[in-house]
Amino acid sequence: MHQLTLAEIARGLAEKKFSSEELTKALLARIARLDPQINSFITLTEDLALEQAKAADARRANGESGALLGAPIGHKDLFCTLGVRTSCGSKMLDNFKAPYDATVVSKLAAAGAVSLGKTNMDEFAMGSANESSYYGAVKNPWNLEHVPGGSSGGSAAAVAARLLPAATGTDTGGSIRQPAALTNLTGLKPTYGRVSRWGMIAYASSLDQGGPLARTAEDCAILLQGMAGFDPQDSTSIDEPVPDYSANLNGSLQGLRIGVPKEYFSEGLDPRIAELIHNSIKELEKLGAVIKPISLPNMQHAIPAYYVIAPAEASSNLSRFDGVRFGHRCDDPKDLTDLYKRSRAEGFGPEVQRRILVGAYALSAGYYDAYYLQAQKIRRLIKNDFMTAFNEVDIILGPTTPNPAWKLGAKNSDPVSAYLEDVYTITANLAGLPGLSMPAGFVDGLPVGVQLLAPYFQEGRLLNVAHQYQLNTDWHLRSPAGF
Ligand code: GLN
Repeated sequence: MHQLTLAEIARGLAEKKFSSEELTKALLARIARLDPQINSFITLTEDLALEQAKAADARRANGESGALLGAPIGHKDLFCTLGVRTSCGSKMLDNFKAPYDATVVSKLAAAGAVSLGKTNMDEFAMGSANESSYYGAVKNPWNLEHVPGGSSGGSAAAVAARLLPAATGTDTGGSIRQPAALTNLTGLKPTYGRVSRWGMIAYASSLDQGGPLARTAEDCAILLQGMAGFDPQDSTSIDEPVPDYSANLNGSLQGLRIGVPKEYFSEGLDPRIAELIHNSIKELEKLGAVIKPISLPNMQHAIPAYYVIAPAEASSNLSRFDGVRFGHRCDDPKDLTDLYKRSRAEGFGPEVQRRILVGAYALSAGYYDAYYLQAQKIRRLIKNDFMTAFNEVDIILGPTTPNPAWKLGAKNSDPVSAYLEDVYTITANLAGLPGLSMPAGFVDGLPVGVQLLAPYFQEGRLLNVAHQYQLNTDWHLRSPAGF
């Protein structure tokens, strides 16, 4: 049963081949047996899952249907879950039980999804390797000595290892697409404002966006359908109708104009990945797509701009964790300053502290103009590059990552080398555009992803292209040995 996709589960449940309770029990047993190898969960919610599964079975018995009714999923541990620890991968929130459900959590629960637990992640979603978690690193099911990517690495590893058919993630600079690429999954970062951020613990509020991780585009369509939509509780949520993503997967790709930016194929890219990307282009051409070379001239400035803006917003967002209202508090503080200092020094790990320092510096008087303001100007230029490109093409295609998954620990002493891995993903966040990563082949037995970007609110187009590609390729069907 663990090999079933969300779409297959929905059919199996509708045809009464199994119940949600049976499926949930089977997956919980599989998690207990296999997760010790990969560490993809921080908290399991077995009782809640069984309760939700029984309720979903009862709703189906009463004649209700729905693609998510009775479907097991997991939530990245930065979505607040009522009465359940929501740690954000940090010691700071190790004792935090959220007093409410995030909108994404309550919407999926209302659709009948069964939440098995909270998945591991980089601390406060900062990272690309899932090594900065207070709860330990997550291992890549394709090779347990390698990272699964981050920051939604727990969600990715759990789905890749067939512990779950799908899970939620968040993407501030690539944290859905990059772990999807490194674990052979399909992952979608929606347009900024498409999915509510209410109850999603903030990293960098102008960049953060929740989205689905699953094995197929068809399943991403199902999960996104349950997550997307206007939310008056989130001031940046956009009141645009949500299309029926599953109904639009079979559009023809005849005449689809695919832009391939020349800047994507520069020296930093592993030539073996470049070859796989070219193969995926040929595959899409066979389906009728037309390839157009394009240019994104400001792409080279994206990493420096992102690594000013994201830490700046993080330094502000994380100031609320002061040891007073909630979160970790140090023992026996001498005075208020000592309480702040030691609670934060003990509660935050090194990567989070580094970002707070960088962000506070970039925002400080005297440096604000030189760093933060300059980075915002670059952000606008990057957005303009995309707007120009989308006058001529329908989607933009390239690699998701410059390299396959690296070895655990390989980049620990050099944070900048990890930041460089984000080169292809962060521009979509800076511009607010939707992006998808899908399996495109393997290098040394490790998965490689191809990334598609589309204009605002064209998630459906991304899912359509990815689904047609997946009907004609089998990379996404391969599963890691031992899982
Ligand atoms: N790797 C990027 C960072 O560390 C992106 C993380 C994310 O998307 N949450 O900031």
